[in-house]
Amino acid sequence: MNEKINALKKEIEEKLNEVKDINDLTEIKNTYLNKKGPVADLSNGLRDLSVDDKKTFGKALNDFKNDINSKIEELKNKFEEEELNKKLESEKIDISMPSMDIPVGSPAIVETIIEESEEFFIGMGYDILDGPEIELDKYNFEMLNLPKDHPARDAQDTYYLEGENLLLRSQTSPVQVRAMLKGEGKTPIRMLCPGKVYRREDINATHEQEFDQIEGLVIDKNISLSDLKGTIDAFVKYMYGENTETRFRPSYYPFTEPSVEIDMSCIYCDGSGCSMCKPKGWITICGAGMVHPNVLKMCGYDPEEWQGFAFGFGALRLAMLKYNMTDMRIIHENDLRETKNFDRKDVK
Ligand SMILES: [Zn+2]
Repeated sequence: MNEKINALKKEIEEKLNEVKDINDLTEIKNTYLNKKGPVADLSNGLRDLSVDDKKTFGKALNDFKNDINSKIEELKNKFEEEELNKKLESEKIDISMPSMDIPVGSPAIVETIIEESEEFFIGMGYDILDGPEIELDKYNFEMLNLPKDHPARDAQDTYYLEGENLLLRSQTSPVQVRAMLKGEGKTPIRMLCPGKVYRREDINATHEQEFDQIEGLVIDKNISLSDLKGTIDAFVKYMYGENTETRFRPSYYPFTEPSVEIDMSCIYCDGSGCSMCKPKGWITICGAGMVHPNVLKMCGYDPEEWQGFAFGFGALRLAMLKYNMTDMRIIHENDLRETKNFDRKDVK
C-alpha cells in the first residue's frame, strides 16, 4: 500500500513540477482527484485491509491527499497572482503623460446674447414672456394691423400650415398681442419676448429662414417716443459700451405709428466707415415705434388713454456685432474651429 501511495505521489509531484498555467493544474486535478481517479481507487482499497492497516494507511493516504491539495492550492494562488499582475501592468496609467487636447465648445452665442438682453430688461422691470411658434394668422398679422390683403405681408414671406389660418410665426409680435388681450385694456405691460421666428428667405450671409428675435413692448399711460429712445439707448450702452450712441430714422411698419429704424454708432471704426457700418459710421440694429392706435384698439386698449412702444432686435445681429462676425451661417454650422475663436467685443 505504501508503495502504491508513494508511486502515485511521485507521479503527481512530477506532473505538478511541470505545470505552466492554471489550465495544466485543472487538468491534473481532473485526472487524479476525481471520484473515479487513482487517488479515489486507493481510498476504496482501504476497505479490504485489516483494522490496524486501515488506521496506518488511512492516515498515510490522508497526509498524501492533504499534501497534494495544498500543493495544488499553492500553485493556483501563484498563477492567479501572476495573472493579476499581468493585468495590472497592461492597464497601468501613466499619470505623468500629458492629457489629450479635447476640443471644448462655448455657450451658443445667440443664447448668450438673449440671456444678457433678458437680464437688462428684467432690471428695467420687464416680464420675459413666451408664446407658441405655430400661430394663428389673426395674432401674427391681423391684430397687428396687417389685414389679409395688406401689401406689407409680402415683406414677411410666411410658412403657412393648413390653409390660411395657421402659420409658423414670422415675428414674435403675436406674443405681444396675446399679452395685450390678457391685459384686457386695463393693465400696463412691460414685456420682452425673445423667440424663434420663421420666414421663407434665401439663405445668405445675412439672411436665414429660422432666426431669433428679441421684441419688447411697453403699454402704459403717458408713454412717448422719448421713452423708447431712452430705453434703446440704455440697452445699447449696456450691450456695447458707454460710448455707443443711437439715432432714430423714420421708417414704416404697419403696427407702429410713427415707426423708426434705430442705428447705433459703429463700434468698429470711429465713424470713418468700415465693412460693418452701412450707412457710414452707423449700424442699423432695431426696428421700433409707437404702437399703432389700431393695434391698441384691436387688442382691447383705448388709444385715448393708453400709449405704448414696441421694438424688435435680431438676436443674431446683436451677437454678430458683439463677436465681430460677418457671416451669420457660421453660428449654425457649429464649426468648433470657428466658434471657439469668436472674438468677443466686450467694450463695457
Ligand atoms: Zn464702422
